[in-house]
Amino acid sequence: MKDLLIPTPAGLYCPQGDFYIDPRDRVQRAVITHAHSDHARRGCRSYLAALPSKELLRQRLGGRAHIEALRYGESINIRGVRVSLHPAGHILGSAQVRLEYRGEVWVVSGDYKLQQDPTCEPFEPVRCDVFLTESTFGLPKYNWPAPEQEIARLEAWWRANQTRQVTSIVLAYSIGKAQRILASVNPEIGPIVVHDAVARHLEAYRATGVRLPKVKQCSDPMAILERGRCLLLAPPGARRSRWWQSFRPCAWAWASGWVLSRPQYRMNWGDSEDKSNPLVTGFIISDHADWPGLQRAIELTGAQTVWVTHGYTESLAAWLRHSGRTAVLLE
Ligand SMILES: [Zn+2]
Repeated sequence: MKDLLIPTPAGLYCPQGDFYIDPRDRVQRAVITHAHSDHARRGCRSYLAALPSKELLRQRLGGRAHIEALRYGESINIRGVRVSLHPAGHILGSAQVRLEYRGEVWVVSGDYKLQQDPTCEPFEPVRCDVFLTESTFGLPKYNWPAPEQEIARLEAWWRANQTRQVTSIVLAYSIGKAQRILASVNPEIGPIVVHDAVARHLEAYRATGVRLPKVKQCSDPMAILERGRCLLLAPPGARRSRWWQSFRPCAWAWASGWVLSRPQYRMNWGDSEDKSNPLVTGFIISDHADWPGLQRAIELTGAQTVWVTHGYTESLAAWLRHSGRTAVLLE
C-alpha cells in the first residue's frame, strides 16, 4: 500500500484523502494540530481541528476562516480515510491526528507532552502502525523536573522579590505556557498582571472551562499600582520594547525547556536595560515532551515505524533503530 502521508514543500500531504496536516502553504483542506503560528496559518480554504482549539484558531486565522471542529475521538470520513483527533497534551485543543485507511493506522503527534497541565486534556496514547513524532528535545539531557517543583520554585522567587519590592516578570509564550503558569500558581501570593498579548487569549481558555485567576492587563493604568509585588507574565519578544519600565525594578525569568541547556536563557541580559535588575533566572517548564517522554509516548503507540521531525531528530532516530524500530527522518 502507498504511504498515507507524503512530505511535500507545502507540508504533510495525504494523497488518499487529499488534505494536508499543518500546511505551510494555502491549500484547499488543512487538518490543524494546534493553534501555534508554526502549525496554523491563514489562507486555506477549510480547516479541521479539535473543538477546544476553535476559539484560539479563530483568533489566529481570522473571523472568516472556515473551521470545522471535531470532538476528541469523533471521526469523519474524508474520501475513504477515517480521520479523528486525540489529545496531545501540548496546549488547549492540541491534537494528534489519527488516519485509518484500509486497516492501516498512522498518527501525527503534532507538538505534545506527557506532563500534567491544568489547561488541556492529557496526552492520549493511540495505537498505530506508523507514528510521526516531533523531537524538539530529543536528547538524553532533556529530562524535566516535576512541574509542581518548578512552580514551587517560581512562587518562592516571586515571594522573595516581593520582600524587596521588585516586580517578577516571567517570559512565557502567550498561548499555552502563560495560561499554564496562570492556572498553576497560587494567586493568593499577590496580584497577577499579564501582557496584552497574553490577555487576548484568556477568554478562549475560560470559555472552554479552564479556571484562571483574576488578572490585570499591563496596559491598564491601574496595573502600575501592583509594581513591586505582582507576578507579570509576558511573551519572550516583549522584553525588547519598553512597556515594562513603569514596573521597575524588575526581576526576570524564562519559563522554558531551554533553561536546562542554553546559558542565554539564564544570563543577565536584563542588566543592560535595567540597572536595578537584581536577578535573572529560569524555570524548566516546557510544553514539549522531554527525552523520557518521547520514548514513553513512542512505546505506548506500539508503532514499528516512526517518522521523526523537528529538533534533535538524529539522536531519537538512533534510539529508535537501537530499539528495533524503523526510523524515518523528515526534513
Ligand atoms: Zn506548539
